[in-house]
Amino acid sequence: MPEKIYFTTPIYYVNAEPHLGHTYTTVVADTLARFHRSMGRDVFFLTGTDEHGDKIAQTAEETGVEPKQYADRISGIFRSTWETCGISNDHFIRTTDDYHIAFVREVLQRVYEQGDIYFGEYGGKYCTGCERFYADRELVDGKCPDHETEPVWIKEENYFFRMGNYQEQLLRHIHENPGFITPSGYKNEVLGLLREPLEDLCISRPKSRLSWGIELPFDDSYVCYVWFDALLNYLSGLSHVKGAERDAYWRHAHHLIAKDIVKPHAVFWPTILLAAGFPLYKSLHVHGYWNMGESKMSKSLGNVIRPLEMRERFGLDGFRYFLLRDMAFGMDSSFTEDAFIARFNADLSNGLGNLVSRVLSMQHKYFDGELQPVAGELEGLDRELCQAFTTAETKAKEHLAVLAFHLALEEIWRAIAACDKYVVETAPFKLWKQEEQRARGGEILHVLGDALRHTARLIEPLMPETAVRISELLGSDPGKLSAPTPEWGKSFAPGHRVSKPAPLFPRIEIES
Ligand SMILES: [Zn+2]
Repeated sequence: MPEKIYFTTPIYYVNAEPHLGHTYTTVVADTLARFHRSMGRDVFFLTGTDEHGDKIAQTAEETGVEPKQYADRISGIFRSTWETCGISNDHFIRTTDDYHIAFVREVLQRVYEQGDIYFGEYGGKYCTGCERFYADRELVDGKCPDHETEPVWIKEENYFFRMGNYQEQLLRHIHENPGFITPSGYKNEVLGLLREPLEDLCISRPKSRLSWGIELPFDDSYVCYVWFDALLNYLSGLSHVKGAERDAYWRHAHHLIAKDIVKPHAVFWPTILLAAGFPLYKSLHVHGYWNMGESKMSKSLGNVIRPLEMRERFGLDGFRYFLLRDMAFGMDSSFTEDAFIARFNADLSNGLGNLVSRVLSMQHKYFDGELQPVAGELEGLDRELCQAFTTAETKAKEHLAVLAFHLALEEIWRAIAACDKYVVETAPFKLWKQEEQRARGGEILHVLGDALRHTARLIEPLMPETAVRISELLGSDPGKLSAPTPEWGKSFAPGHRVSKPAPLFPRIEIES
């Protein structure tokens, strides 16, 4: 039985269309899902949309439509964006789906019956933009730091979840399971939060104020507050698709999030799980923010990076490459047009793209596209090049297993650079001119064909479209990208032909 593993992105709130932040988390989850599939694991990958709450109700009203209609539209944009981008999620959940609503109500009822939810009064300063209460010390000049508006005083009766009942148990779990929250900086942040006694979590809104939500099963004049509803998607979506197999995946659940939602995921969610009698997830992986560069973005890219526009202009893999290569997972990074173009031109146009077209051109010019046989075992420089790829594969896998995507790509690009060096040292372009050296020239091009096939295998989780494209150009089956490494020098059948070169990453010319 293949080992089961489960990856999630947050469900995205339908108050904005997909932008850079959403895309990064989704690309990371997709890369991990593809990597673990290529390692033979049974992967379940979930993404989706979070659709209840004040903000959605308000925006819908401003637009003059029903909340559900509004949510349908934005949720549809997320779903189709990920489809167009080839994201390999196994299911797309919406918090307005019937099975999710039923699941949330069932859990609420259970936690209520065992006494972890109670009815009480609460008064506080509330920002409607943030949909939360603010303590005075959190306000800047009496205003919400995000919205720069004065919060309104609200006093109302609500339902509260006794998070504190599970604080000790959560603390113990974090100490006993070092990989529970990664990177460790975020774990320390959570341990800091847990140094103070946890306040009870308000989990409801009266219907008189908000009706766009899941009705509480034990009081129909209230709806559930967003987090208790949203976080349960990770179990409801899995249960819906995998049924009885749910627990086998859940034991290996990996959540991917940005650092702004650490507290709900590392504190609210585990205490909800403990109260509801579910085991805790395996790991929470937290990434940093993309800053939009120091300098003003030029008009051509704009200030909002949209995945479909990036795909249209540069191809999706150029964008994926930049996101995975320029951010160390967990740290902040910055996105500037200059950095994107420099990276694209250097590593993709001049690096990988140039190598592929150079090898295919030589193969066509010297041998009419037909791969020549390699006599005997690989030796000398041929063997060294093969070894460079074996090393890159081992190291890249180690890095991917711990979400060090930038280091995995560095290793693979080291092997690609070794190909360029190999071409210079073996000089097939000279050998071809001398009759007695032609066979050796053919061998060299065959070895380079092996190197390109190996490259396609290595980049598949990170740059899936390019992996398929390279396989097709080599005339090999893209469906076999994750099959065991074929033996170099012996893997192409006699008479095998490669395609004529086609540009993979046309150089981006800078507009002046
Ligand atoms: Zn606010």
